[in-house]
Amino acid sequence: MLTHYCRSGRFELDAPFAALTAGAVAALALSWLYAYALLYLPLIGTFTLLLTLGLGFGAGAVTAVVLRARRCRSLRVGWAVGALIGLLTLWLSWVTYTVARVDAAAGEASFLSALLHPRALWACIAELNAAGAWSFLGVTPKGGLLWALWGAEAVLIVGVAAATCAASVAQPFCEGCGTWCEERRGVARSADGDEAALREALGKKRFAAVWALGPTVRGSAFYRYDVFECTACGETNTLSVLRIAVNALGARVERRAVVRHLLLSRADVAALDSLAARRAGRSWLTSGTRAA
Ligand SMILES: [Zn+2]
Repeated sequence: MLTHYCRSGRFELDAPFAALTAGAVAALALSWLYAYALLYLPLIGTFTLLLTLGLGFGAGAVTAVVLRARRCRSLRVGWAVGALIGLLTLWLSWVTYTVARVDAAAGEASFLSALLHPRALWACIAELNAAGAWSFLGVTPKGGLLWALWGAEAVLIVGVAAATCAASVAQPFCEGCGTWCEERRGVARSADGDEAALREALGKKRFAAVWALGPTVRGSAFYRYDVFECTACGETNTLSVLRIAVNALGARVERRAVVRHLLLSRADVAALDSLAARRAGRSWLTSGTRAA
């Protein structure tokens, strides 16, 4: 008998094509916004990093929505479609950025011509690299340093788009009724403790073990308990436990899965909820908020 959720790996045949089409439209729109924001907002540093992450995440998220709508449970398809959209976004961002730069310099650049002539585009990029594209605190990165920065930007865009798609198809899906399970994050929290013992107790559905660990201590590592449940038929439900460690300033330094999608029955979920609700009055086990 299965004890943990196992992805079926199935997907509707049109899922990759529908997701690639929607992702391409998003990539085109977002890459224009990205190019003009880079060119006209004179802010470099954290802001640029957020823009780059936003571009990869935006294109990946639109693609992921369609993958989920077409019931894609295949991690391979998720990674592959996400990476393709990431690469397309990267390419389009270079096309739009180059066109926007030429336009800004009062030249005439055609989007189609830049799109259809990758060699000419590459020559433009190499020229830009030799001259430097921007300055920060009086320094204009060129050559190897600028290639390295552009390389990091490329890895971020493609990586974030691919990871966004993979993560969203990896969530539990109820094969019984054909719907995605809904997440309830932080159904309970407890203090850190013996991991192996907790895993064993949860495997035997002894949820009182959660209570036995005691309340979370400010500034110390703790366990967070997340439930995924099918709200349609109630047949597929899972429990994941994350160990989250924070430093003295409260910043997260570790986020690791201790238990990953342990299968629960409807009665198990109810038992976990009633334990959390009963103990809530006595302070620390919190009832979770349903994630969007
Ligand atoms: Zn169901």
